[in-house]
Amino acid sequence: MTLMPWERELAPIAERLRVGARTTVLTGAGVSTGSGVPPFRGDEGLWRRYRPETLATPAACQRDPGLGWDWYDWRRQLVAGCEPNRAHAVLAAWTRHDPTMRLITQNVDGLHERAGSERVIRFHGSLWEVGCWDRCPSSPARWSDLTVPFPVLPPTCRYCGGLLRPGVVWFGEGIDPTVLADSEAATACELFLTIGTSALVYPAAGLVARARERGAFTVEINPDETPVSDHVDLVLRGTAEAILDAIEPHSAAR
Ligand code: NAD
Ligand code: ZN
Repeated sequence: MTLMPWERELAPIAERLRVGARTTVLTGAGVSTGSGVPPFRGDEGLWRRYRPETLATPAACQRDPGLGWDWYDWRRQLVAGCEPNRAHAVLAAWTRHDPTMRLITQNVDGLHERAGSERVIRFHGSLWEVGCWDRCPSSPARWSDLTVPFPVLPPTCRYCGGLLRPGVVWFGEGIDPTVLADSEAATACELFLTIGTSALVYPAAGLVARARERGAFTVEINPDETPVSDHVDLVLRGTAEAILDAIEPHSAAR
């Protein structure tokens, strides 16, 4: 059997993955590419066909809610047809068996939850939540809506009949303060894994540096180099699904 280079490097991670050892995992679009969900960047990236500033901003969606919702409705349909992959499954098993494990995701696809992950910190919201554009007084800030596809676009608020918005964080919008506080607290850990993220979008991209500053052993899992590659303790160059599958039998977090 030919050993992939990263297979020699699993021991330092596996021995740290003990129940109660305080592990924090940050995931990005790369954990879902194995499920068929395209990332934003790279050859298959969503931005190749759509420019973020045209669609994923409050101004763009206000200017043309029909176009904005076409895009979100299309993404919801795409994700509804995908299944969680081995990376989601391994992380779900760890969160279930280790109450000190923290999983922060930048993904909005809901695949971590579908795989059974618990206590997911959703940094950028969810495709499966919506809110009232005008924040009408009788509506909650966000609520779950699994309608796929929406029969009429753009969909309307069930409380006031006005425009609905996707429950995601758009470019230029702030992160929910509770999510920020939970993520900052999660950087106080022994092991920090950053998996499948291009590490370009702040403040999420700053979490790994914060964890390292606080003494964590930091690991990047990504087939490609990113801006954090030179600033972590260990880099595993490969896909999330292959590497997590290889770590899982060694981990004591089960
Ligand atoms: P990104 O698209 O910028 O980068 C994806 C990264 O994943 C790249 O570094 C790539 O090398 C890596 N990658 C590709 N295939 C991989 C695999 N099989 N295993 C491991 N890594 C792999 O993604 P990002 O950093 O999450 O971008 C930030 C924004 O993109 C987030 O705000 C997020 O909300 C949004 N986004 C989410 C989804 C989703 O929910 N699935 C999809 C696209 C974009
Ligand atoms: Zn409303």
